[in-house]
Amino acid sequence: MKSRRVFLKMLFGLGAVILPWTGLPGKIRLATAPMMKQPKTKLFLVPAEAQTLEEYFQSESLNRTAWDDIQTLASPDMEGRRAGTRGEGLASQYISRELSLLGLEPMGEMGKSYTQAFTIPEVREVFSGSRLTFSVGDPNRLRAPSLNVLGGISGESEETILISAHYDHLGIFQGHLYPGASDNASGVGSVLDVIRRLVEEKSTPEKSLLFAFWSGEEMGFLGSRAFVSNPTVPLENIKAVINVDTVGTGPVGDFGLWADSNNDLAMTTIQEAASEAGTHAALVNSNGHSSDHITFARLGIPAVTILAREWLKNNHSPQDTIRNIVVEQVQLASEIVYRAIKKLAF
Ligand SMILES: [Zn+2]
Repeated sequence: MKSRRVFLKMLFGLGAVILPWTGLPGKIRLATAPMMKQPKTKLFLVPAEAQTLEEYFQSESLNRTAWDDIQTLASPDMEGRRAGTRGEGLASQYISRELSLLGLEPMGEMGKSYTQAFTIPEVREVFSGSRLTFSVGDPNRLRAPSLNVLGGISGESEETILISAHYDHLGIFQGHLYPGASDNASGVGSVLDVIRRLVEEKSTPEKSLLFAFWSGEEMGFLGSRAFVSNPTVPLENIKAVINVDTVGTGPVGDFGLWADSNNDLAMTTIQEAASEAGTHAALVNSNGHSSDHITFARLGIPAVTILAREWLKNNHSPQDTIRNIVVEQVQLASEIVYRAIKKLAF
């Protein structure tokens, strides 16, 4: 026994000399490190309250609200969502994921994807007073890719009501983040909330619904223009357009409408919807500003943009943050759009 213990002691002693000398312990640590960091595999089980896998995924998005969407889209991670940048890519992924969880039909390229790609020209940053805007630069420079996000709910007829909000903003300029919380994370959140409500109701509309989240709006409505020159549903099927832009600014219940064509259908409906929701939406002078409704109005399609009457507050500045978002106003915009869709499509 004794000689065996002596022998073992010698072996350990030898190891203490040899191992540090060969660097073996370090090598073992390095070799096993990736293994040690591997997360534990979790078993995925559909919760008992969900009947199907589809319902479970839907609940993932149905539990979210416009406020969650705004916080996500206006967070520094999204880098101000400038068209053609990584931030735009992340924002488009977020919106596509929500549409997919909610079970909307992909209405992008070939009806197989939620996105529609287009290209944008080089732009230059220009200050108009304290507002940062873009002007188109050299048209011969290399164009960058950009993405619209589109999803639909099929109705009984092919006649379509288009509901839209642009999701792009100004990005980061001179070291300042332009989060675009009101312009237009608020519009995206309010439209996503309308979709959640319709999905929860599970009723089939008479007309089809197309939900579009445009990019490149800040560069001159480039996303909506790309759509009309390469539409994923026939333009003649689109009977009315309701566009939501910058609805996160107070005072609560005070909305403006921009329209640039003879469009009784959209205007009358949205005004009725607003008064039913206990709010006020009046046609206002856009003073040379515009939004994506213009792309459709130019084609003679009834189109209107709903926006907060005080939309210019903090607009196109680094102060357009979630701290300045009036959540009740976003919820009211959502209520108006929901009621207008009920009138137009059900
Ligand atoms: Zn804007």
